[in-house]
Amino acid sequence: MMRLPRFQYFAPRTVSDAAALLATHGPAAALVSGGTDLWPNMKRRQQTPTRVIGLRGVRELHGVSGAPSNGLTVGAMTTLTAVEHDAALAAAWPALGRAARLISTPPLRNMGTLGGNLCLDTRCNYWNQSFEWRQSIDFCLKRDGGTCWVAPGSERCWAVASSDTAPVLCAIGAEVTLVSIDGERRIPVRELFRDDGIEYLNKRSNEILTAIHVPAQDGSWRASYRKLRRRESFDFPVLGVAAAARIVGGVVAEARIFITGAGSKPHDAAAAAAVLVGKRVDDRDAVAEAAERAARIAKPLDNTDFALGWRKEMARHHVTAALADLA
Ligand SMILES: Cc1cc2nc3c(=O)[nH]c(=O)nc-3n(C[C@H](O)[C@H](O)[C@H](O)COP(=O)(O)OP(=O)(O)OC[C@H]3O[C@@H](n4cnc5c(N)ncnc54)[C@H](O)[C@@H]3O)c2cc1C
Ligand code: SF4
Repeated sequence: MMRLPRFQYFAPRTVSDAAALLATHGPAAALVSGGTDLWPNMKRRQQTPTRVIGLRGVRELHGVSGAPSNGLTVGAMTTLTAVEHDAALAAAWPALGRAARLISTPPLRNMGTLGGNLCLDTRCNYWNQSFEWRQSIDFCLKRDGGTCWVAPGSERCWAVASSDTAPVLCAIGAEVTLVSIDGERRIPVRELFRDDGIEYLNKRSNEILTAIHVPAQDGSWRASYRKLRRRESFDFPVLGVAAAARIVGGVVAEARIFITGAGSKPHDAAAAAAVLVGKRVDDRDAVAEAAERAARIAKPLDNTDFALGWRKEMARHHVTAALADLA
């Protein structure tokens, strides 16, 4: 049985108290929301904070507010189950609920939160293992070792972005609020991620992700999410495709496609999305060209599930399917 290491637990009641605790304890501290990622990582000694700051008691971080026509704000502590079932979110952006529903299992969705999902650690076959397993290969670049076993000549870690909601929030143009003792800032979700398996977030270590802001919906935007995984019942994505398009008079006025599971951040397939603009969303040639271009930027490495070539090929199929959903 894997046990948690010893740590001191704090239960602040307000965001400002949580931010003060984070500032006081510095890198020795970690935030925990649902704990469905942090606790297993601590059991495997991938993360070893000696202080854990729990956000569950911070009421202002829970729930959804606003209206579809003006934009909605989702508190970072809102559970994935709540995101899946929220009527206003479903009316505005059903693809977000669909992505949440495809995460893991019901018990984990009851605990896991939207904020935690965006801050989810990157994944790799050489990383998501017990301490002893990792020790037996002399660890790796991501922690305690000097070699990346996926790309031994590489000076960077290629662990993959694995959040299902992140690509959808990028595609629909959502933003997040980050709070620290120094103040507050709001950035697009697409700018939250870095193409680095170790430092995968553009978030300062003293910042708390407090809210996710989804844009207003006037009915002209449609969005979709398609996920590839081995077991439909609960696996992480080995490929995820989110597509969103603003359609005016049957013609695409704006489009965005984001691909996850094939790099350390959700990748913006902007060149693929650009092909669709000015075309009908069901234009077969445009969809085929967009799928071809999107597959070009999906460059999976041999560090998750399935054969690389097949995953790359599946990128083409999943983009085609996601665009068919929009039509
Ligand atoms: C068996 C299993 C299957 C899973 N399958 C999937 C899947 O298919 N798709 C998927 O996307 N995920 C999956 N997950 C991962 C996880 O359950 C979800 O990503 C979940 O949403 C994480 O949210 P959480 O609140 O539990 O995060 P936590 O574990 O609490 O936190 C995750 C990370 O984010 C940091 N953090 C948490 N909240 C904040 C905040 N407000 N501000 C700043 N930092 C914060 C924590 O310090 C930690 O590093 C799976 C997990 C398991 C165990
Ligand atoms: S990509 Fe390389 S450095 Fe990163 S977790 Fe995997 S083996 Fe380790």
